[in-house]
Amino acid sequence: MSEIESRDFIRQIIHDDLESGKHEHIVTRFPPEPNGYLHIGHVMSICLNFGISEETSGWTYLRFDDTNPSRESEEYVAAIERDLCWLGFDWGDRLTHASDYFERLYAAAVTLVEADLAYVDSLSADEIREYRGTLTKPGRNSPHRDRSAEENLNLLERMRNGEFAEGEYLLRAKIDMSSPNMNLRDPALYRIRHVTHQHTGDTWSIYPMYDFAHTMSDAFEGITHSLCTLEFEDHRPLYNWFLDQLKPSHRPRQIEFSRLNLAYAITSKRKLSALVEEGIVEGWNDPRMPTIAGMRRRGYPAAALREFVKRGGVTKKNKLIEMGVLENCMRENLGDESERRMAVLRPLKVVLTNYPDEKVEMMEAMNHPGRPEMGTRELPFSKELWIEQDDFMEDAPRKFFRLKPGGEVRLRFGYIIRCDDVIKNDAGDVVELRCSYDPDTRSGTGSSDRKVKGTIHWVSSEHAVDASVRLYDRLFTEVNPNSAEDFHAVLNAGSLETVSAKLEPSLAELKPETAVQFERLGYFCTDSEEHSVDARVINRIVTLRDSWSKLEKQAMQQQGKT
Ligand code: ATP
Ligand code: MG
Repeated sequence: MSEIESRDFIRQIIHDDLESGKHEHIVTRFPPEPNGYLHIGHVMSICLNFGISEETSGWTYLRFDDTNPSRESEEYVAAIERDLCWLGFDWGDRLTHASDYFERLYAAAVTLVEADLAYVDSLSADEIREYRGTLTKPGRNSPHRDRSAEENLNLLERMRNGEFAEGEYLLRAKIDMSSPNMNLRDPALYRIRHVTHQHTGDTWSIYPMYDFAHTMSDAFEGITHSLCTLEFEDHRPLYNWFLDQLKPSHRPRQIEFSRLNLAYAITSKRKLSALVEEGIVEGWNDPRMPTIAGMRRRGYPAAALREFVKRGGVTKKNKLIEMGVLENCMRENLGDESERRMAVLRPLKVVLTNYPDEKVEMMEAMNHPGRPEMGTRELPFSKELWIEQDDFMEDAPRKFFRLKPGGEVRLRFGYIIRCDDVIKNDAGDVVELRCSYDPDTRSGTGSSDRKVKGTIHWVSSEHAVDASVRLYDRLFTEVNPNSAEDFHAVLNAGSLETVSAKLEPSLAELKPETAVQFERLGYFCTDSEEHSVDARVINRIVTLRDSWSKLEKQAMQQQGKT
């Protein structure tokens, strides 16, 4: 047996099952319903299922749980496959659909009917609800519960043949209408749906219910451990009932774990779908979306996402993971890998009055301070520069070490400059700084060893290239928007700010899906949808420092650590 990494409770069970010889191989599955794009919660389930089979030399099925044709589509199927590949997982030839088993599922239903363990009901949906009882009140048997097996078989076949209208009949398991577990009160097995299925077309007029289809698909595929989220704990007795009655040759074991929830993010496909349909975001891959497609477009590296869910762990306790944890994983990954560049997001003009008009010097700049093997590049330096508006303050406090009237600062890889004059427009806004440079202070080669406290970034205005840079913030103002009564009320109006930035000339051409660090600002990459060499569109992946972890911690504490 190969080593199972850091044992969470599920890996412990699997380890024991291998040790005891209960299983020779571990078989897991990831069973998305193709009714939306995958999100950060799915990343956890993917890493768990594929991770376990990798660690144990087992295998994992990618099974589309396509039993609800009205909500599912090929667009989602394609997106799910693309996202899984990008995350770095490979299902080989184990790509299946619940719909591949429709014949076998039907045969299993017939077996239940023949054994008097299932019946066709003709109560209306409202009546079924009423007969079902409540948590405190037992249900009542349907008057149709005692139809003969023969009559049931006949009705079921006619349901299949499309002879009835939707809702006219329903196939139900015959279990126990007074069970304290509502899931065992004669749950539905098949319902009539006259819709075209994206995979089986119009072959079927009836479609199996999730619990039945899911349990039996697991069994058909020889899944050893069926891992699902906690809300299915109450469904486990039903899962086991199907296995007890139908005795398939493989008996999977269902184990539940808690969902991964991310602070300030929604992890429900229904709500994410509403954000897209209502035009609140640009699409499923909007870089503010916690979808895999959105996070990829934002510039999150796949390896950093996998690391994030690993840190989250696998438990049975509900948890809300701070956005800061996710962002720190990104920073750690990007900090090592990305080259440094200079860019000014909110430009303020600086004119060096004592610098020769036509002169251009090439300054040598390191691509990565910690990794000399990543080389250097040349930055043009000239009389007119852009600096960041934030790096100048007119009425600056004593401890402000950037530029202020009469003050000095070092331009990174350049010279020390002093601010001599502040030029304003009619509205009183600062529009230009007149500065002088000290020729003896050129970085690396300067004859003077004069030191100043602050160093700021800059770009030569003559050589700068333009870009539209998108600065993203959380999509929601509420730490747990999943539990908000109406998520519209807690949308963050400032979740996207677009600025017209000036970039150093080496950024004229940027490779897609390759992050760079803009010094002092954060990590950035081109936008995969809208960027072109003629119209640069760049996304901020993450800032350099965690600016709101304190805020977030407070908010979570107030929530009582949901
Ligand atoms: P949603 O509520 O977003 O629709 P779902 O559970 O209905 O989620 P599925 O497509 O059925 O979505 O999910 C596929 C798999 O991913 C399931 O095994 C499910 O348990 C798991 N999964 C879904 N959301 C999360 C989450 N937040 N954390 C961990 N696993 C999740
Ligand atoms: Mg589901």
